[in-house]
Amino acid sequence: MTEANKKIVIIGGGITGLSAAYYLQKVIKEKGLPYEFQLIEATHRLGGKIQTVTRDGFTIERGPDSFLARKLPGSKLVKEVGLGDDLVHNSTGQSYVLVKENLHPMPEGAVMGVPTKISPFVTTGLFSPIGKLRAAADFVIPKTKQEGDQSLGMFFRRRLGDEVVENLIEPLLSGIYAGDIDRLSLKSTFPQFLHAEQRHRSLIVGMKKFKELQPKQAEDANAKKQGAFLTLKKGLQSLVDAIEEQLNPLAVVKGVKVEKVNRMGERYDLTLSNGKEITADAVIITSPHFAAQSMLSHYPIFEPLREMPSTSVATVAMAFPKEAVKEDINGTGFVVSRNSDYTITACTWTHKKWPHSTPDGKVLLRCYVGRAGDEAIVDQSDEEIVQVVLEDLNRIMQITEKPEFYVVTRWKKAMPQYTVGHQERLEEINQAIEEQLKGLYLAGSSYEGLGLPDCIEQGENAAKQVLKYFQA
Ligand code: FAD
Repeated sequence: MTEANKKIVIIGGGITGLSAAYYLQKVIKEKGLPYEFQLIEATHRLGGKIQTVTRDGFTIERGPDSFLARKLPGSKLVKEVGLGDDLVHNSTGQSYVLVKENLHPMPEGAVMGVPTKISPFVTTGLFSPIGKLRAAADFVIPKTKQEGDQSLGMFFRRRLGDEVVENLIEPLLSGIYAGDIDRLSLKSTFPQFLHAEQRHRSLIVGMKKFKELQPKQAEDANAKKQGAFLTLKKGLQSLVDAIEEQLNPLAVVKGVKVEKVNRMGERYDLTLSNGKEITADAVIITSPHFAAQSMLSHYPIFEPLREMPSTSVATVAMAFPKEAVKEDINGTGFVVSRNSDYTITACTWTHKKWPHSTPDGKVLLRCYVGRAGDEAIVDQSDEEIVQVVLEDLNRIMQITEKPEFYVVTRWKKAMPQYTVGHQERLEEINQAIEEQLKGLYLAGSSYEGLGLPDCIEQGENAAKQVLKYFQA
């Protein structure tokens, strides 16, 4: 392929599209390549699910609030755009699981609910003696012989029993995916658990070994333990703003939706919502999968994306004066088991986890509502949602006043569900793209990880793939 004046269109200005644009622009500039790109975003702002609100001294995240520090593409991008000094780790503290009416401290040493230390599991009130005995069967149960993918629920129930799954693993995992663990794919969400089991037979032994291999924190008892998450002092929106500032403004189009992508010879024709048609030599689609499927609906290869579910959730941030919370709890938050009669699925004591987010003398709580199969609450009014959340919280914490203000954010179909067989379906689609639609790339939270660092990495990889394609 000749190199003259190639054009790349990036569809979607969430963190995936922004990362693709940032890294593409960087290489084009550094190498003086004769390529141009355009990023097209349907709404009037960039950032997609990243949205920060600042109000009365509070920094409130409507969507993601942080990212895993150990996944390096996140902090790498932050440092590249000059925000390295704004990175902050979360304050560590006790977290809890709410089961029935009781808040149970998370057993020490649990990795996503899998025990790696025995005594905290023996003494926890989270499980009955029979539940604990059943979990101990993990030491003798043979490793799974299941070929191909299986659900997280099937895997964990077999190894540790229903009680540990329902009271600990399910609330933790569904806190990340807002999903149904009996449908979520083990291979596409937590393959490390399968590897641990296959290598060591026992999942508990495998995760214990895995933990021992992780870099050790300072052993000094006075040293403050560093949190596993990172965020930015001025909110995650500051990352979006910093990337936008560095992108060529003429390359960014907002408020325009891509309606159709069609291959014409070696190029692509894109139909836009403003009535215009543009052409491109390569296209990176970073919109959610259902939007991608809609713009490519005339290609049957994308049909599996139509079937891929997404869950709706809402976040509810509430600000209080400190005195309003009569029965405060020493910790950073809790997740709620499905078998408990609550509407909230999780609550973060944001003022404790992220002290920079809250002025002195105030409390900031952020709760989640909605999860797979239980999403009707998301469609209720702000007032109704806040009322339900406050009733739930009052059963645990005694909050005597109404919040000074609240921010409710609905996230409709925002949590893509990697159900069993996800990876195989994705491989088939990518194979068909390679054969029929060269120069087209799918990237973002619907495909290979929904954490921010995963999305950033996918954006960077898509940029690399386009460059490789042009230079082939
Ligand atoms: P999006 O952010 O969805 O961006 C896609 C963009 O495409 C949007 O801006 C959209 O308007 C645009 N678009 C759609 N259709 C079209 C079209 N036809 N034409 C042009 N543009 C279009 N991850 C973490 O790591 N840590 C967290 O703490 C965390 N918390 C979360 C909390 C919530 C409530 C949610 C919803 C997600 C959370 N996540 C978290 C996940 C993470 O935020 C997302 O996976 C990530 O932001 C997705 O980025 P993206 O660019 O792939 O997609």
